[in-house]
Amino acid sequence: MLTGIYVHVPFCLQRCTYCDFNTYTGLLSLKEAYVDALLREMALRAERAAGVRARTLYFGGGTPSLLALDDIVALVQAVRQQFDLPWDAEVTLEANPGTVNEAYLGQARIAGVNRLSLGVQSSHSQELVLLGRIHTWSDTEAAYRMARAAGFERVNFDLMYGLPGQCLREWLVTVRRCLELGPDHLSLYALALEPGTPLAETLALNEVPLPDPDLAADMYEAASEQLHAAGFWQYEISNWARGTTAPPSIWALPPEGLTEQIGPQISQHNLIYWRNEPWIGLGAGAHSWFRGRRWRNLPHPESYINAIISNRLRGFSAEALSQRLIWGETLMMGLRLAEGVTNGRFSATFDMHLRDLYGDVIDTFHRLGLLIWEDGRVRLTPRGRLLGNQVFEAFLPEGDEFD
Ligand code: SF4
Repeated sequence: MLTGIYVHVPFCLQRCTYCDFNTYTGLLSLKEAYVDALLREMALRAERAAGVRARTLYFGGGTPSLLALDDIVALVQAVRQQFDLPWDAEVTLEANPGTVNEAYLGQARIAGVNRLSLGVQSSHSQELVLLGRIHTWSDTEAAYRMARAAGFERVNFDLMYGLPGQCLREWLVTVRRCLELGPDHLSLYALALEPGTPLAETLALNEVPLPDPDLAADMYEAASEQLHAAGFWQYEISNWARGTTAPPSIWALPPEGLTEQIGPQISQHNLIYWRNEPWIGLGAGAHSWFRGRRWRNLPHPESYINAIISNRLRGFSAEALSQRLIWGETLMMGLRLAEGVTNGRFSATFDMHLRDLYGDVIDTFHRLGLLIWEDGRVRLTPRGRLLGNQVFEAFLPEGDEFD
């Protein structure tokens, strides 16, 4: 069995105003003990999953680039040893542009990290300040150049749109500036206002104009056109990659109907999530999906370290999913991809046919122009990708579906 390995690094220098991720400031003194716990958890998980091999490794956070280089090296080596990660496997490091230098990136590259994901968010200083980011656009330019100099051939930028007070023109300036720099992959996310975050509270006090959802949709469409014109394939609702050929249209079916055929710049690790294939998450608050069970580690780094030190993997939240929920989630995640979900892959995994389970739902959304059923494959239409959430819901069973 093959799996993705996710390593969570729950430390940040400063909390961004919109962030509700499982991350902490002021806990950097725990870093050493935390890495020891990660190595310990990895050994315990590997023992329980004997024979399971890793195909990708992803350092996410938090700010993984706050880890010392020696720690990155030790963790990559441990995944190679414990989970037989191949030498040429995709290894991604998320990095904050304000936290890296050329020596760090060069050594990370030598250690086997071959994909860098930079949390750029915006090219405008007033937006970066509003978001509470610690970096500037010049930091992004510098980090990008350092990454190339260090030998990274796969660089992703995360960008955010639908910001309070942001206009379409400003957003497209950010997209254009990024394209001029030349990353290989872009992830575009609409700002989600999470309750309790400083940004949500500031907006509630009317100090900043509320984001307009229609404008956010226009931003998405306009960026999508700009990226298509620049030769990027939109292979997932929020993700674009340079391909070995240019895409024939926006939201085109990938060559041979397979995302991998777009080229080496797609995120192979995230493809595991979208295809609802197994992954093991290590670290505080990390989620896993493995052998029909989903679990989450204790979220606070200190509790996590203490649990792992005493060999306590049990006691973390875990649930076994019903078959119907697994099918529904496979559709919900798979429809995020331009390749959609094929009956061939679905029936090979579950020994059930898509149309037998979801024929009515597929036909209903087909009539509404949101889904296409063609050659044994269901996928969103270009309009459907704007209304994905309405479609996804229809595939999920009602109520709790845990065994
Ligand atoms: S860098 Fe990322 S994880 Fe850290 S506070 Fe900002 S948004 Fe949250």
